[in-house]
Amino acid sequence: MKNKKSQEGLTFKKENFSEWYSQLITKAEVTDLRYSVKGFVVIRPWGAMAIENMYKLYEEELQKKGHKPTFFPTLIPEKNFKKEATHVKGFSPDVFWLEKIKGEDKLALRPTSETAMYQMYSLWIRSHRDLPLKIYQRANVFRYETKATRPLIRAREFYWIEAHDCFTTEKEAHAQVQEDIQTTEKIMHQKFGIPFLAMKRPQWDKFAGAEYTIGSDVLMPDGKIIQQPSTHFLGQHFSKAFNVKFKNQNGKQEYVWQTCYGPAISRILASVVSMHGDDKGLIIPFCISPIQIIIIPIFSKDNKNKILKETIKIKIKIESLGLKTEIDASEKRPGEKYHEWELKGVPFRLEIGEKELKEKKLTLFTRDSGEKEKIAISKLSQLKKLGEDFDKRLKTKADNFMKGKIADCKTKQELKNTIKNKKIARVNFCSTDKTGEKCAEIIEKEIGAEIRGTLANKKEKSTGRCIICNKPAKEIVYVGKSY
Ligand SMILES: [Zn+2]
Repeated sequence: MKNKKSQEGLTFKKENFSEWYSQLITKAEVTDLRYSVKGFVVIRPWGAMAIENMYKLYEEELQKKGHKPTFFPTLIPEKNFKKEATHVKGFSPDVFWLEKIKGEDKLALRPTSETAMYQMYSLWIRSHRDLPLKIYQRANVFRYETKATRPLIRAREFYWIEAHDCFTTEKEAHAQVQEDIQTTEKIMHQKFGIPFLAMKRPQWDKFAGAEYTIGSDVLMPDGKIIQQPSTHFLGQHFSKAFNVKFKNQNGKQEYVWQTCYGPAISRILASVVSMHGDDKGLIIPFCISPIQIIIIPIFSKDNKNKILKETIKIKIKIESLGLKTEIDASEKRPGEKYHEWELKGVPFRLEIGEKELKEKKLTLFTRDSGEKEKIAISKLSQLKKLGEDFDKRLKTKADNFMKGKIADCKTKQELKNTIKNKKIARVNFCSTDKTGEKCAEIIEKEIGAEIRGTLANKKEKSTGRCIICNKPAKEIVYVGKSY
């Protein structure tokens, strides 16, 4: 019975984004939402395999850039947590505390790991020769979200990477923030096909304990913004709180300069699902799809053995190219199989029947275009290139979706309309330091939108007046609705 139900396909179209999203991640077996603890979902093998592949690409890139992996405990003692005043103030409402055991420290489930890792950094770092220290871990973190949760998008537990780096100079730490933005560009945009705006957050919206924060804002198909990887310049706030010092070349003690970077892989999967999927189901980028090519043998009772034998040969051939492939030899009708693998978003499908074997040409179906063509068995090595082209098309389509999504607004009414039309507004704004917070609150209250920040890598000169208070505008900011 269960199979029959999952084969019904999607009954919601993407234009009904919210219903479509929940139905899609359920029917495509990415998640199971029936765990029945608010904000916690089960990620099923199909989702977990995609996440594994995403981790792999991300970690390879971090390691290429000099990071080393580590694993830290999930629990953080309260006394560590309290060491950096701004951090504890910002994160306290989000923390899951464990029930205190008599005679032991009160413990928190990590919401992020600065206060776990930096106490060890103070033991590991002695001299300038120990720097830079660039370490990351893949971990699940826990945050007590009070707002409405949404699977993978806003969850109380998520799967991420956190990189925590230390340097001898302030300059190197600023450069690391830039490197982190480049890592987001290289992996999330170039590989996963998710365009983003790198935004320097206003002072009131930075990471608790940072001097500044740069977030990657991704516009989802429903017009809401989701924050993807963010990178933080921590200055010396934490190194002073945790006594992370080094002896410089002149033998003098100095505090290290720090940065941290956090791509939430499970949340990036939400953007991948939302950005690329269509009315028929998921479309997973070739570079992260658990199966890149699904092979469907088409046989009758009479030729089953013969066809399967040839199919296995083809599978071995494709595997030798380093590609991920499976044969669906189940008892279902070919049509049912097509439907199921389209729902799951596998980039390519190869059909192999009597006719195909005779012609030595297989039928190749491409998920995003829906086109069918022939590919000679002798030319299967082309699949690699076709996979790269597949990912390029997804990226181009997503980039095109972003085009025209940013609108200049001069009045509050224009701002209102822009947000209503599921776009991002670009407006003159008094200031992104503390003095501008009042105007930001007005925008939040009256329009239900947020100041996301200023462009991180381009100084845009403002000449006009603040859209809210009419004072001379120091900044051009971007405004959007967020989850
Ligand atoms: Zn203002």
